[in-house]
Amino acid sequence: MAQLSDDCFAFGGPMMSVDEAVGLITTRVNAIVDLEAVALIDADGRVLARDIAAPLPLPPFTNSAVDGYAVRNADLSDSAERALPLDGRIQAGGLALAPIKAGHTARIFTGAPMPPDAETVFMQEDVRVDDAGRIVLPPGLKPGANVRPAGEDIPQGHIALRAGQRLLPQHVALAAAFGLVRLDVVRRIRVAVFSTGDELASPGEPRAASQLFDSNRFMLMAMLRRLGCDVSDLGILRDERISLANGLKQVAGTHDLILTTGGVSTGEEDHVKAAVESIGSLVLWRMAIKPGRPVAMGIIEGTPLIGLPGNPVASFVTFVHVVRPTVLALAGSLQAPPLPIPVRAAFTYKKKAGRREYVRASLRRMQDGALEAIKFPREGAGLLSSLVDTDGLIELDEEVTRVEPGQSVGFLSYADLL
Ligand code: AMP
Ligand code: MG
Repeated sequence: MAQLSDDCFAFGGPMMSVDEAVGLITTRVNAIVDLEAVALIDADGRVLARDIAAPLPLPPFTNSAVDGYAVRNADLSDSAERALPLDGRIQAGGLALAPIKAGHTARIFTGAPMPPDAETVFMQEDVRVDDAGRIVLPPGLKPGANVRPAGEDIPQGHIALRAGQRLLPQHVALAAAFGLVRLDVVRRIRVAVFSTGDELASPGEPRAASQLFDSNRFMLMAMLRRLGCDVSDLGILRDERISLANGLKQVAGTHDLILTTGGVSTGEEDHVKAAVESIGSLVLWRMAIKPGRPVAMGIIEGTPLIGLPGNPVASFVTFVHVVRPTVLALAGSLQAPPLPIPVRAAFTYKKKAGRREYVRASLRRMQDGALEAIKFPREGAGLLSSLVDTDGLIELDEEVTRVEPGQSVGFLSYADLL
């Protein structure tokens, strides 16, 4: 399990910027070193544990990029057509048994190995057959055209995949192209998830008139799963210090991260802070972020704890900026934070300088092809519909105080954040 010192999340300033939070997490959280070997089919989304050097060049042999006719460069002409008799036929998976005779051409297909003495391929669409059955080649084809030399994609020995890479389908394809069967990946990060609050009922259980169904836990578990975590669903803890403390303490030794939602404000019924302090150490990060509120960071018996706010949108946004980097750091992932893409604002917005704000927005394509961001019409951090009915978040940096229609703003798609 992760073992962190009690003061690892301590922070001196009154307000923490998003960048400071991410910087602190990435420098203080130790990566898990346990590995496991997984089959390629199970590798998507996992974090690669070792560099992979190409065990063979890609492509492994020089081959034709098209269906056509292979020739020697000595038989190319810059100025006149040339009619060459056929000598040989090489299919994909076949072999040229002998070199092509000088002044001849061989029929060849896409992916078939080049005959040893041929360097160039004419596309079949560019040639014709004369009455004598010879292949008439046009002048002016560049020597080496339509051929894929061995190693042109990746030379043998090149470090093609790096430890820390979060594997996507294209990385799995590369490993398969190398003939690998299993990959060493970092074991899944084990995360214990709790909701807190007397007002919460679990879906499937009776709901009292003053209760709402717990939605955050399912959102957070789904987000963690997408990050490749092994998630323990630990249900709802009541707003009571001792039962909270007992619940948290029980999972500390067996998980790499404890995640809670709710109860981290400074109201009298926010008990997460006191509960963590009674069994470990805790700091409240006041993050300069909206939506978002204090985020609790703690250590219980060496295991990190993150306490997110209860409002669903605040919970979502702080997950992205605090939990996501923590999980990636625990997994030793190299992944850089997603880059906002520039879009045109279709709204007016005023904000305070000094804090990062995230505006829920949908995209639409304008007639000139540019993308325009439409702000969700309401602001509340409790509105789940605002996350459901939008495509992503507009990121407004600390120094921004105003957005005018037509202004370029940075958009982060939910698809990139999850
Ligand atoms: P808290 O952070 O505990 O003060 O909660 C802030 C708001 O978020 C309250 O209106 C809670 O009812 C709501 N809330 C807290 N936890 C959840 C949850 N797990 N699912 C949905 N709403 C929640
Ligand atoms: Mg609460």
